[in-house]
Formats: sequence, structure tokens, C-alpha cells
Amino acid sequence: MQRAGKGKTPRRPKKPSNIEKDPVGVYCRIRPLGGEDEECCVEMISNSTIQLHAPDGLKANRNGEYKEMQYSFKKVFGIKTTQLELFEDVAKPLIEDLIHCKNGLLFTYGVTGSGKTYTMTGSPGEGGLLPRSLDMLFNSIGPFQAKRFVFKPDDKNGIEIQNQVDALLERQKRDSQQSVPKTPSSRQKVDPEFADMINPDEACKSESVDEDCCYSVFVTYIEIYNNYVYDLLEDAPFDPVRAKPPQSKILREDQNHNMYVAGCTEVEVKSTEEAFEVFWKGQKKRRIANTQLNRESSRSHSVFTVKLAQAPLDADGDHILQDKNQVNVSQLCLVDLAGSERTNRTRAEGSRLREAGNINQSLMTLRTCMEVLRENQMCGTNRMVPYRDSKVTHLFKNYFDGEGKVRMIVCVNPKADDYEETLLVMRFAEMTQEVEVARPVDRPICGLTPGRRQRNQAFKDELSRRLEDRGGPCNGENPVLLNQLIESLPPLPPCELSDPSDDQALPRLIEVLERRHRIRQMMTEQFNQTANTMKSMLQQFDSQLNAKETVVYDQRSKLGEKDKVIVNQRTEIERLEKKSKTLEYKIDILQKTTEMYEQDKRSLQQELEGREQRLQKELAERRRMEQRMQGVVTDTKLKWEKECERRVNAKQLEMQNKLWVKDEKLKQLKAIVTENSDPGSGPTEQPGKPERPSRERDRNIAQKRSASPPPLPGNVFKTRGGGQAVQFTDIETLKQECPTVPSRKRRSGSAEGPAQTDIENRAPMANTSSSHGYQKRRRP
Ligand code: ADP
Ligand code: MG
Repeated sequence: MQRAGKGKTPRRPKKPSNIEKDPVGVYCRIRPLGGEDEECCVEMISNSTIQLHAPDGLKANRNGEYKEMQYSFKKVFGIKTTQLELFEDVAKPLIEDLIHCKNGLLFTYGVTGSGKTYTMTGSPGEGGLLPRSLDMLFNSIGPFQAKRFVFKPDDKNGIEIQNQVDALLERQKRDSQQSVPKTPSSRQKVDPEFADMINPDEACKSESVDEDCCYSVFVTYIEIYNNYVYDLLEDAPFDPVRAKPPQSKILREDQNHNMYVAGCTEVEVKSTEEAFEVFWKGQKKRRIANTQLNRESSRSHSVFTVKLAQAPLDADGDHILQDKNQVNVSQLCLVDLAGSERTNRTRAEGSRLREAGNINQSLMTLRTCMEVLRENQMCGTNRMVPYRDSKVTHLFKNYFDGEGKVRMIVCVNPKADDYEETLLVMRFAEMTQEVEVARPVDRPICGLTPGRRQRNQAFKDELSRRLEDRGGPCNGENPVLLNQLIESLPPLPPCELSDPSDDQALPRLIEVLERRHRIRQMMTEQFNQTANTMKSMLQQFDSQLNAKETVVYDQRSKLGEKDKVIVNQRTEIERLEKKSKTLEYKIDILQKTTEMYEQDKRSLQQELEGREQRLQKELAERRRMEQRMQGVVTDTKLKWEKECERRVNAKQLEMQNKLWVKDEKLKQLKAIVTENSDPGSGPTEQPGKPERPSRERDRNIAQKRSASPPPLPGNVFKTRGGGQAVQFTDIETLKQECPTVPSRKRRSGSAEGPAQTDIENRAPMANTSSSHGYQKRRRP
């Protein structure tokens, strides 16, 4: 907890619910084709849209069915775009932000040879975004820069403020050591490669710099190769004989949760030229390392960071306010990413392949991070963003998690060879545009009266003008005052010195002059006293005024904050109102739906009940039917049982009759035999034609023979042959009762068999018919 008010690195927002967000600004720059006869596969169809045409070879491979794809960006820069135009659209707002304590990240993305380095660094006469940014920054803050070492980076990504004396001592120490290069006094001293990067006519400047602040610029330059971080400004000399690989650095998080490269060299620069020189030094180091270690420069990411520290002037406008709470630090990262091509395209082998894999891996991680971020933002999910999977994404974590303005320039080489890689680049760009980053908030103003620097300057100017007028410092008295003063002094006595040894006039003169001298001394003392009183009064007034102004500023800033809160609350209220309206509407709809469902339910229940009742009825009906059927079955069964019995009896009777007839014949035969032997006796019947015994007679005979009346329905009697026979006495009765006898003939040949002539046989048949008749009547 050493210093709470240390120079603050870009702060993390406290995650209020209503942070304003802006999407990542994605721009597209198309570079000119290398040769005029080359096939072009990119067409700019508007200033925000490009169209990709599949090259001829590819079309043929896919039966000419290749889709023409269109991609839109915040803005598209065609082949004729100058470096200045690009700078004004893309980087200038970032420099404005930087000056106003807001962070920025600008990176170029594309395949190797698409113009990333050209866009970022440029070439002599056609400086890229980096030199132009530095130039604009120094053009804007140039006269307001603090003396060297007034701001001093600590080793924890913060910036401290030193008093004038410490800064002076450090300056003297530096001058004696000469370790840090001094600001070159003219462009002749600058590396020729770097001279005249920018045409002086094209110089840019911010018009809204706070003049009541003091500024200092620090730069760092790192390279990320194979997922290792190297400091390109480190002073350790590179040994060309025994090339040992440079030491890699680690990433740390500062107390504000910003990532930084631990132990990275931060160089304070005071002019565009000096900053260029530092950049170029790093660039050279990079080139040497790449050659010595046989590395592929297109596979490394380079990150040039411009850090701007600012602190307000004190109330006098003369010195920096020695209040560490008032130091603000903002930074702009300018990143030239590695080529985004796939490994197989470059046909890398061995260790190169591993490197390429890693580089692609870090770009893949960048892609994954963007995807996850976008998903989290769009779907409200909270998936972990894998920033830590690569150094590049880890370093820029806070831009996406915290706040800042992020811009990406997608560089495109329209040549046909790059077509497939360009497609992948476009897809990444399209997705990245949907990621949103919290908008940096305005820093609170310090509360001192504005215009302090100007007032102080005016005072100084006036002072030096007056000094110049008088040819040197003296007590300023105007001639009128001087005359008055002389008049108020005792007059000189009239004296004419004629003799050097005049002992009358000379002592008088001496006396008067001495008196005058005393008066003058008194007056001076008095004047000084009055002046001092005046001065202290003025100082008192001034401090009172300052205090009042501070209070007013305080109140104003508080008012401003309150206003902001009110506006936020209002928008929140509006949002909530809208939400509640939508919810009410939804509830309405749900209620209606519920009612509908309830009605449906009721009607379905009614239907169900009706059906149940019907079912019950049918069931009861069925049971009744069953019972009825059972009754019928039992009846029929009984009937048939009786019928069978009757039939059996009839058959028996028939057989009995046959037996009886045979008996009778035998008897008649016997009688004939006896008649022949005794002619006088016997009945007077016709001889040779025996009478057919009728049942009537048979019965009579049986009655005669039987002593007791025969039992009903049949009687058992002894046959003449010595056997027994049963006579069914009611057969005749049945025959007479039968109502269907006349219809017998009609029914002959029916399923009931051939018509029977035998009376005895008819009875059961008649009975059967009658039973049929009965059945018919019972049928419901
Ligand atoms: P990268 O860094 O993407 O690999 P470079 O920036 O090195 O690509 O560009 C490759 C070549 O193309 C360089 O010679 C560069 O001068 C040229 N170039 C790139 N973009 C442009 C452009 N917009 N106008 C003119 N030349 C360009
Ligand atoms: Mg490059």
C-alpha cells in the first residue's frame, strides 16, 4: 500500500451495469497488386464493402459454383488510399483519446505481404500510422512537456512524479553517464532511413490539449516470437560473435489488473525524432536477431507502446502539482501482427514448422478469444475467455475485459494466390466486428482554475518586457512619481561653489543631502512595508479566490457527475419501463392463453364425462343383454333337452310298435294256423288279408289287458311275446295340437330332412316346429 496515488495505469471499470460499449472498429485496406498482369480476386464495391471473386483455377475445381462473397467493414480503403488518409480516419481519434487519458489498441492483421508493416511503419516519405501518431502527439503536447525525469516509471507499470530538484539531479547524472541518447537537435542526426518519414505539410495536431497540464511520453517496444516476449529496447549488447538468444520477459498484472511486460525498458522521449530513433533502434535489433537466429520476421508480432503521463500545473501555473493522485497515464499500443497464413502454405519444415505452429496458435487463440467474447456478449453467457493461452492475447486482456478503444486494420493483398487465406482473414474480421469493448470514461478534472499556464506565461512575458525596457532589473518608478518624490524632499540650498575649500556652502549642502538621504531611506522602508502588506493581502485574496474557485470546480464536477448519474438513472428507468411493459404484455398474452386452455379443459372434461356416461350405459346394456342371453341359452338348452328326451321316447315307441306289429303278425299267423285246425271258431274277417292294427285298437287291447290304468304319459305293459312295452298315451294329443302339420309338405326337402308319412314320427317334428315358434316369439 505504498502509494495509493501513484501514476495510474489504465484503470479497470468497476463494472457498473450500464457501461457504454463500442464494437471493435474493423477497417480494410487493399494494397495494389504486385504486377499488372496478376489476377485480382478482391473488388471494392463501396466504401464499406468488398467482394471476393474466386480465382479462375479455383472456380474450375469446383465446377464453377464458387460463391462470390461480400464483406462489410467500418470503412474500406482502396489501393489509392494515402498513408495520411488512413491515419486521419483510423489513428487520429486514438491519439486524441490518448491525450485525453484514454487507452487505445490498434493492430494490423493479414497474410504475409498484405501490407501490415507498410501500414504500420511505412517507408521514407510515406510514413505509416506509427510515425504519424508520434508526430501528432508531439505536435500537440510539444510546448507542454515536463522536463525529463519529472515523471518516472516505477517497475510496477506505474508512473511516479519527482520534484524539480530530484529531476534536475537525475538529469545531471544522465548527462554525465550519457547512457540515454539526448534529443537530437536536428534531423541530420536522425537515422537516414528514418529521416523525412512525414512530409511537413502533412503534420497533424490535436486542438483540444489541456494546456494546464504537463506531459511526458514513454515508449516501449517488444517482440513476441514463438510465444516468448523480447524487449527490443534493452541495452544489453548483442554479441555478434557468440550469438546467445535474447532473454525473454514475463507478463505481470499490475495493481489495476493491467497486464505489462515485467522489467521492460521504458524510454522517455521528448520529440518525434527521438521517438523514431528509439523505434528504429528496436527495429534494427529485431532484424539482427532474426538474421543471427535464422528467424522468420513475418512470424513475429511486434508491439510498440506509447505511454503518455500527464499531471496538472499548480495554482500558479508555474510548476507541476506535486500530487500523485493527479497523475494520469494512458497508452496506445500499435501492433504489427504476424502473418495469418496457415503453415502448409509456407511449406515450413523442422523448427520453422514448430514456430509457425506457435504463431498460428497465437492467432488462433486471438480468434478463439474473440469468438468466446462475442458469444458471452451476445448470449449473456459467462464462458472463460482463454486470454492466457497466448502472450499476445494475455497482454491485451484488459482492452477487452476493461476499457479502451480497439481498432483493427485488415490488410488484403488482392492477388489470386492469397484468395483462400484472405477468405479466412475476412471471416475473422467479420466476427471481430461483433465484439464490443467498454468505452473509456472521461477522467475527472482536477479542480484548479483553467488558464493557469497562460496567466503565468503572460506574467512572465510582461516582467521580462519591463526588464528589457529598463535595460536591467531596477525599482520601477514612473517619472511623475519621481518628480513628486523630489518635490517632497527638502530643497537644496542655493549654493555656488567657487572654491574647493568653501567651508560654508559645502557643509550646508552636505547636511541637506544627508537629510534627503534619510528621508529617502525612510520612504523606501515605508514603501517596502506597504508593498509587503499589499502583497500579503493580495496573496490572501488570491488564495481565497483559489479556494473558492476550487470549491466551485469541485461542485461543478460533482454536479456533472450527478447529472451523469441522473441521465444514467433515467435511461435505466426507461429501460425498466420498457421491460415492464413488455412483461405486462407477455402476462396478458399468457393469461389469455391460460383462459383458452382452461376453456378447452372444461369442454374436454364435459366431453369426457358424457363419454363415460355413455360407456356406463352401454356397459349396463351389455350386462342386461348378457343376462338375457344366458336366460335364452338356459331356456333353449332345457327345451332341447326335453326335445331330445321326446325324440328318444318316440324312437323307443316306434321300435316298440314295430315289435308289436311283428308280434301281431305272429299272433295272426298263429291264429290262422289254429283256424285251419279249428274252422268254427275265430272272427269273421276276410281270410288272407290280416287287418292292420290301429293304435286305437292297440290301446284298447292294452287297456283291456292291463288291470290298472296306464301311467301318464306312457304305460308299460307286457307284450304277447313275453317282453315288455311302453305305450305313450299322449302322442295322439301332440299330433292333433301340432299347428304346422299342414305346412309339412311345403317344407319337405328342407334342412330338417325328408317328409315322414308316419304319424308316430310326425309328433316330435310338430313339437320341434312349435319349439321354433316359441323361440321366434321370445326374440326381442
Ligand atoms: P506484411 O507486413 O503484411 O508482410 P508488407 O507491409 O511488408 O507486408 O508489404 C509487402 C510489400 O508490399 C512491401 O514492399 C510494401 O512496400 C508493399 N506494399 C504493401 N502495401 C502497400 C500499399 N498500400 N501501397 C504500396 N505498396 C504496398
Ligand atoms: Mg510485416
